[in-house]
Amino acid sequence: MSRCLHCGAETTNGLALCELCQRFVHDCLEFLPVYFRNLARWRPGRAGSRQVAGSRVLYDGIDRGAGTGDRISDTLDETLTMLTTRARTLAEDRPHFPRPLTLTDAVLTDDMAAAYADALNDDPARTVVLLCAGVDEHLMSIATTEWCGDMVRELGEHESRLRGLTESAVPGWYAGGCRQPVGFDETGAVIRCETSTYVAPGLTWVTCRGCGATTHVADHLPVILEEAREWVARPRALAEAVVAMVPTEQSVPRLYARIRQWVHRGDLKPRRNLTRGYTWDADAGRIVVADVEIGHARYRLGDVLDRVLTEGATRLGPSADDKTTVAS
Ligand SMILES: [Zn+2]
Ligand SMILES: [Zn+2]
Repeated sequence: MSRCLHCGAETTNGLALCELCQRFVHDCLEFLPVYFRNLARWRPGRAGSRQVAGSRVLYDGIDRGAGTGDRISDTLDETLTMLTTRARTLAEDRPHFPRPLTLTDAVLTDDMAAAYADALNDDPARTVVLLCAGVDEHLMSIATTEWCGDMVRELGEHESRLRGLTESAVPGWYAGGCRQPVGFDETGAVIRCETSTYVAPGLTWVTCRGCGATTHVADHLPVILEEAREWVARPRALAEAVVAMVPTEQSVPRLYARIRQWVHRGDLKPRRNLTRGYTWDADAGRIVVADVEIGHARYRLGDVLDRVLTEGATRLGPSADDKTTVAS
């Protein structure tokens, strides 16, 4: 008989984390990357200095009030640091990772090819996805360390901070007026909250800032699908958003692969950011001003939705590696 180092409950599984706290960690690790990615995409500080996926459409230059860009940047940096620190501690305490390393183990132990490490440096959101997946895979092993209770507390704090920021700072898509009943008028008719609600791409719920009611994205679907059609993003972000919204789509990796097929076949028209630059015009024999395409190709959500809804749901085969599906 031992005790859970997080909640103090008695455990009979020989681990220092009870079943409930393991479940809690699992949920944190599932949601944290979704919050992180959305906040990184919207962070005004980054959007101004550097093109971020989707930022041209999503960030219109108006700070909607809830906090500064710095606060979000700082929180994201702290979360990444926390996850990296925990990963290194794990690698030191439990050094026997089977070789060859899996991708997640390579990220946990910081044992990667230099080119891949560089790429991850430029993509903190991807790093967080991999670190969270890695911690989740090693949860049983972590539950035998004396620091597992502290890690659960930290993960919980960061998850709730990022959730708070997501719900307050990310504008998201308009999801219609809140339908929550808040009282009755003199004729006995129901008075509804009617506060405008918004959903962040990748989340499966909508929280009303007026009354605090939380409802499922599916309940707002017609409004959101109409609102979100013009959103432009890279294929993975599109897959995450569609899986969170459309009930028949259940696997982010599967839909992502399908979107890439459509891209490959030329079914989706790419949108690229333009920047004003200069180029040498050989015919004219001088430097001329030219608009140059920069960054990764992005695609319109409406085009992806049309394909999903007309060609039918993405099939789920038995060999799917669906570790990164969006929570439902
Ligand atoms: Zn517990
Ligand atoms: Zn409401």
